[in-house]
Amino acid sequence: MFFQNSIIEKLKKLPTPYYYYDVDVFELTIQKALQASKTINGHIHYALKANHQDRLLQILAKYKIGADCVSKGEIEKAIKNGISVNNIVFAGVGKTDEEILYALKEKIFCLNVESIQELEVINDIANNLNTKAPIALRINPNVDAYTHKFITTGLTDNKFGINASDLNLVLDKLKQLKNIQLIGLHFHIGSQITDLSSFKNLCLKINELQRYLEEKNIEVTHLNLGGGLGINYMHPDEGLVPDFEAYFKVFYEFLERRHFQQLHFELGRSLVAQCGSLITKVLYQKQSGNKHFLIVDSGMNHLIRPALYEAYHKIENISKYQHPDQQLYDVCGPICESTDCFGKNVLLPITQRGDILAIRSAGAYGEVMASDYNLRGLPNVYFSDEV
Ligand SMILES: *Cc1c(COP(=O)(O)O)cnc(C)c1O
Repeated sequence: MFFQNSIIEKLKKLPTPYYYYDVDVFELTIQKALQASKTINGHIHYALKANHQDRLLQILAKYKIGADCVSKGEIEKAIKNGISVNNIVFAGVGKTDEEILYALKEKIFCLNVESIQELEVINDIANNLNTKAPIALRINPNVDAYTHKFITTGLTDNKFGINASDLNLVLDKLKQLKNIQLIGLHFHIGSQITDLSSFKNLCLKINELQRYLEEKNIEVTHLNLGGGLGINYMHPDEGLVPDFEAYFKVFYEFLERRHFQQLHFELGRSLVAQCGSLITKVLYQKQSGNKHFLIVDSGMNHLIRPALYEAYHKIENISKYQHPDQQLYDVCGPICESTDCFGKNVLLPITQRGDILAIRSAGAYGEVMASDYNLRGLPNVYFSDEV
C-alpha cells in the first residue's frame, strides 16, 4: 500500500485539491536509475518539462543529475536549484533568439538543434558573442515508439528533429558555420514507451548513422539518447520504480558506442511520475440511468492528461481502503467540458461526499500543466516529509 495509515490521517486534513509528492519514493527512483546507468557509464539529464518543482530539482541536484531544458525559464530554474551549467542541455523546436543568447552567455553544455535555419541563427548569435556554440544535431530516426499518437516524436511526419535524408544538406551547411561546434547527436523518439524494442531499433539506426558519418570523417563525442521510458500507470504499486536495468541494458547490448563517447539520457516521466499523486475530495455523487458519477473538487485544470491524451490514471479512495462493497463510478471534475473526467467505470469502494481520492502516478506532466481555467485556482502542493 502506497499510503500508510499514518499518512492517510494527515492527508485527510490538508486542504484539497493538492499534489502530494513522496520524497522517499523519488529518491529511491533516482538511486535505482543512477545505479542502473552506471553499467554503461550513462549520464542522466532530467527533463524539467515533466515537473519543475524546486524541491524536486534540489534533490536531483544533490545527486549531481543534469538537466534537459526546453526554455530559458527552465534553464534559469535548473541553475537556481543548484544544477550545474555544465550539465544543462537546451532542446526544443522553437528556441527564440533571446533564449539562444541566454544559453550561450550562461555557457551551458549543449544546444540540441532541430533545423538548418536554427543552426544559422545560433551561428549568428555565437558570432556576435565571439564564441563557438556547442551543439548536437537532433536527428529524426524514423523509429516508431508504439505509444499514443500525440506523444510519438521520432517519425518522419513529426515536427521534431532533422530528417536523416536532409543530413547531407546539414553537414554541408555546418562547414560554412564557423561559430558552431558539433559535439553530439541527439535522438528522442517519444514518451511513455513500454516496448523496449523501440529503443533497440533506435540503437540500430544510430549505429548505421554513425558509420555513415565516420565515412565522412565526422566523429562526435556525445550521443544523447533522449528519454521516453514508460511507467506502469495500471499498477503503480507493482511498478513503483521503473525497470531502469532493462532499459539501460538495451543500449549496452545494441548501441555501438565508440570508446571516447559519452552517453546521455534525458529521463523525465520515469523519474518523477510515480512519486506524485493528485489528491481530491468528493463533492457530490449523482446517478444518471445506470451510471454513477462522482464529482470531485479537482479537474482537467489540475491534471489534463486524461482529457488531453486519453491517459489512464489509477484512482483510489484512500478514505475507504478496506471497504468490502464496490461499485463502478465515472470520476469527473467540475469544469464545463465533457472531457473533464479522470476515469470512467472506475471500481471503487462505495464512496460518499467528503471522501478523499488519490489519482496516482501524477508526478509527471501533472502539476506543470495545471492552469487556472474557470478561475478555480492552482492546486496546493505538499511533500511527504513536510506534512
Ligand atoms: C519530453 C522530452 C524528454 C523527456 O521525456 P520523458 O518521456 O518524460 O522521459 C526528453 N527529451 C526530449 C527532447 C523531450 O522532448
